[in-house]
Amino acid sequence: MEGNYRNILEQLNEGIYYVDLNKRITLWNKAAERITGFSSEEVLGKCCADNILQHIDENGNKLCIVGCPLGKTLKDGGNRESQIYLHHKNGYRVPVNVRVTAIYDDDNQISGAVELFTDITNRLDMIKELEKLQKEILTDEMTQIGNRKYADQTLRRRMLEWKEMQVPFALIFIDIDHFKSVNDTYGHNVGDEALKMVANSISAAMRPFDVACRWGGEEFVVIVPNISSDSLDNIGERIRMLIENSWLTLETKKIAVTASLGCAIVNIEDDIDSLIQRADKAMYESKSSGRNKVTVA
Ligand code: GH3
Ligand code: MG
Ligand code: MG
Repeated sequence: MEGNYRNILEQLNEGIYYVDLNKRITLWNKAAERITGFSSEEVLGKCCADNILQHIDENGNKLCIVGCPLGKTLKDGGNRESQIYLHHKNGYRVPVNVRVTAIYDDDNQISGAVELFTDITNRLDMIKELEKLQKEILTDEMTQIGNRKYADQTLRRRMLEWKEMQVPFALIFIDIDHFKSVNDTYGHNVGDEALKMVANSISAAMRPFDVACRWGGEEFVVIVPNISSDSLDNIGERIRMLIENSWLTLETKKIAVTASLGCAIVNIEDDIDSLIQRADKAMYESKSSGRNKVTVA
């Protein structure tokens, strides 16, 4: 049990340390090492005020001397929470949220205290916020796959890799068959649900590094890196098959759609426009030869 308990403490993202009644550190978990830069060998057995963390508050008051929350909790058993700055081994200050709780022995006497601390450096939040914004800008709101902007960006990147490093890639154009009649028969909302369904089924056929985007309306593209024409046909066929085998249930009705696909692998003369044109033309061949088909240019 003891071992299990130790293991859990090591997994936490929160830094944890225990001190005994003399404020000597008796436990120091991995997160505490990461946040402070001090390894457990460096701190175990030391007093926490021994030139280690040297917490200060907002006003620069040295808490080890004037108001150590651990010290107070060791005396009165109270829980405490505060935002303070600890001292990283590399010299700089780290803002942390600190919670202190007393530990009791079998006779219900305070035998030590535990401090939990979380790094609350704002730069972490800012990166998360930027990642979130970036994701929003490049995501199609309805289907939650990539949007046109993301498709354009990915095409530019892949074309650059092709021209500079000869990494081939392919473009698959997907256009839902007779989609207008879905809207006309069941209404626009059902049409929207069908678009989400198709986007999800396209995603189901993706391998790592394939990118699926909504090109606009009822049209989608998939950008496939590093591919031969045989496996391109396989991926196209898998997408076609998964769309054909998807359906919405409306009361007792099954609503299914099919799609026509056009695929093209990049060649020496291609620029982005010519590649799009070839994939688009292949897609129209699938339409004119009966729809629910895959054509490789
Ligand atoms: P085809 O097999 O030749 O592709 O026939 P189609 O009916 O799919 O072709 P068309 O391009 O004439 O019609 C596309 C339809 O897609 C028309 C438009 O109302 C519908 N559509 C485009 N965007 C949306 C959308 O966001 N939601 C819904 N519900 N319908 C959309
Ligand atoms: Mg269309
Ligand atoms: Mg269509």
